[in-house]
Amino acid sequence: MPMDNIKHNKIYKAGETIIKQGDIGDSAYIIEEGRVEILVKKQNGDIENVGTRGEGTIIGEMGIVDGSPRTATIKAIEDCRLLEITHDDFGSRLESSDPVIQMISQVILTRYRDLLKRSKILDNTDGFAQIELLEKNLAAQANVVESVRIANELKDALANDDLDVHYQPIINLETNKISGMEALIRWTHKDLGFISPGVFIPVAEKSGMIIEISKWVFRKSLLGLENIQKHSTNDNEMFISINFSSRDIATPQFVNGLLDTISDTSIKKEQTKLEITERVLIQQPDSAKKTLEACKDAGFKIAIDDFGTGYSSLSYLYYFPIDTLKIDQSFIRSMNKEDKRKKLVKSIIDLGKNLNMDIIAEGVEEKDEADALREMGCDHVQGFYFAKPMPEDDFIAFMKDWDTK
Ligand code: C2E
Ligand code: CA
Ligand code: CA
Repeated sequence: MPMDNIKHNKIYKAGETIIKQGDIGDSAYIIEEGRVEILVKKQNGDIENVGTRGEGTIIGEMGIVDGSPRTATIKAIEDCRLLEITHDDFGSRLESSDPVIQMISQVILTRYRDLLKRSKILDNTDGFAQIELLEKNLAAQANVVESVRIANELKDALANDDLDVHYQPIINLETNKISGMEALIRWTHKDLGFISPGVFIPVAEKSGMIIEISKWVFRKSLLGLENIQKHSTNDNEMFISINFSSRDIATPQFVNGLLDTISDTSIKKEQTKLEITERVLIQQPDSAKKTLEACKDAGFKIAIDDFGTGYSSLSYLYYFPIDTLKIDQSFIRSMNKEDKRKKLVKSIIDLGKNLNMDIIAEGVEEKDEADALREMGCDHVQGFYFAKPMPEDDFIAFMKDWDTK
């Protein structure tokens, strides 16, 4: 557990009470040094020693999950040094975690408490009806149900070939040629119709299914580019930009997986840009750096997606092996409203260019925006002004049309 998640360092002398039975639990502790004993007061008033815990173990974890009274007293039997995890800290982590994990962890805890009560170690005052109600409430939380439902259907969609990849052209502002494309996943549900990746990608990320989906998108996109290239009427080599999530780049075999897949195709690694959002880099800088360096060494290009929205420190730009900056749509959208915002975009372009990066502006919807970006030295543009993401065949038709213009 990283140190900054642990708020306090506590010292207890031998004999001191750390946790008192019946109190509301507001902290859990990791024992760094020393030993403790766990004492339970029974209904008849007898105190039973139910065990001891030492270095590296955790105490008080039950209370911070559900805020119920402590079920035992814990005393230091040697001088102890403890790391505290507060209830608030834990609560915010739990809140930001997958709803299924939230639900299952609370269900396990209520069952465990139930078991303790049945075993007659603890007072049986609450009754089982309350536990049942609690479990029902937990399972009924709307986001739990919705998230499980989408995850299950997405699994079917992957198995049944209901997913597709669309391609959005990226235009070189200097040559006015199609320099490449971004691959974007599409899901058409048999009953519900089009479901936005903005809805199901976060679910796939939380459930872990994103790893399988990313693999699928990667293979499909490379095959797509192979076919598109076959129909190309000019000889400029196009790149393909593919989105990856934090879960993907945290997989130890990430680079090897990409290499395996690309070796089955005629696409070059240099043609392949891996898009990672700025947020991912901020969340896990050290592991991201390692993975991205391995990708870069293997020959892949790295693009930072949604640049400018993650509030990262600028030092990130030289910390990571970045080839391309994709300026987020929100900057482009506001550019022609205010001169100041245009200057901001110009500064981002200059910054990236000074660091030898390629710049792609996203979300270009107007001719004015494209003209302004060209003037500011932006390399590439992507957006509805040129084309929406489209199926492979439509892309080929668009490309033929574009090349003869
Ligand atoms: P993104 O990576 O920032 O992708 C760009 C999004 O902007 C796409 O939305 C695209 O259709 C949209 N867009 C492009 N040009 C314009 C424009 O001129 N105006 C406006 N308003 N929008 C424009 P889409 O396809 O709905 O994807 C949404 C997000 O879902 C993507 O944002 C990306 O974060 C995620 N996503 C999509 N496909 C994949 C995928 O295969 N894997 C992963 N991990 N994420 C994906
Ligand atoms: Ca993207
Ligand atoms: Ca983006």
